[in-house]
Amino acid sequence: MRPAPAAIGDSVAAIDTPALVVDLDAFERNLQTMADFARAHGVKLRPHAKMHKCAAIALRQMALGAVGVCVQKTGEAEALAAAGVSDIFVSNEVIAPAKLARLAALARRVRLAITVDSALGIDRLARAVKNAGSTVDVFIEIDVGQGRCGVSPEQAAALARQVHAHVLPPGPAGAGLHLTGLQAYHGSAQHYRSAAERAAAVEQAVAIVSAARAAISAAGIDAPLLVTGAGSGTFMLEAGSGVYGELQPGSYAFLDADYARNTPHPDAPSFEHALFVKAQVMSASATHVVVDAGHKSHAVESGLPTVWQREGLQVVGANDEHCMLKPRVEVAALPALGDTLWLVPGHCDPTVNLHDHLIAVRGGLECGAVEAVWTVDARGRLD
Ligand SMILES: *Cc1c(COP(=O)(O)O)cnc(C)c1O
Repeated sequence: MRPAPAAIGDSVAAIDTPALVVDLDAFERNLQTMADFARAHGVKLRPHAKMHKCAAIALRQMALGAVGVCVQKTGEAEALAAAGVSDIFVSNEVIAPAKLARLAALARRVRLAITVDSALGIDRLARAVKNAGSTVDVFIEIDVGQGRCGVSPEQAAALARQVHAHVLPPGPAGAGLHLTGLQAYHGSAQHYRSAAERAAAVEQAVAIVSAARAAISAAGIDAPLLVTGAGSGTFMLEAGSGVYGELQPGSYAFLDADYARNTPHPDAPSFEHALFVKAQVMSASATHVVVDAGHKSHAVESGLPTVWQREGLQVVGANDEHCMLKPRVEVAALPALGDTLWLVPGHCDPTVNLHDHLIAVRGGLECGAVEAVWTVDARGRLD
């Protein structure tokens, strides 16, 4: 682990570069806005923690009313549980028996839920849970239009019957599966640029998940099913659907440069950039400058970073340890050697995964101070 690039009480100027910095004032407004939105719409909020991988942030989200968090990986669930997160939904399929054994063991200590989309997955999960003597909530994933994981409404009915067969009578052992709901997340729709395209995708998702509910009920299973899904690009649509009961947005807490390129939905609350890579100009010429933060400091697969409050400056390239910046127009002044630039990462999730620490700053990026240093607890937990 790298030594933290700053300590509590340091001025912003003293934070070593490159560093991943959270603007606490903007971040807290983002958390509050989403918590208020969910409450006002009568839906549960279960933010996706694959984005921040940080127990301190998960606990803040839960303190504001979130019912728990989502993760994608077994290792993420273990890391966050070890750091005190008590309610975790693995919103992804897990098929390896060794991983299912770890999750079933974890379910003895925290409330745990998981996604399934196959008969084999349910069989293996049921075996793991019985061996561990624990209980796991099960969500059947429906492919609501992304064409990645998940099943059709008809296949969902068969899987629901299979999960139901593993519901054991309550007793001292009490182990078993509990058919809890349907996972209905449309990942690609989050980044459709126009509000109309996102609305059309969610309308289709609502129709598919409604058909799945109808098919399951026609198969004689009348368990109340919680429909969960949505991300930072579409949550306002699922919340207003009357079908979704839980929202899973992640990126809203930090708002990366790629999300800022979405045309906002007219009724959506707005969010602010709260995650920055602090970088320093280490080389300067008449035509461009170079900073000390390349794509080992911030992910570029969703686009190069933008430069905070320097509209005239454009990142034109990124290498491992360098970013090159040029003026957008000839006349714009270039920063000087040693100057600080604040990069807004293209994609927050993989950017956080590159860092051991988040430096949380109070009072703004110009003259604030470090209020907290958070560990990225689930960094690298791809297992
Ligand atoms: C990533 C993810 C989310 C959150 O998406 P954002 O775009 O970060 O808001 C929600 N649900 C699932 C299943 C995800 O994989």
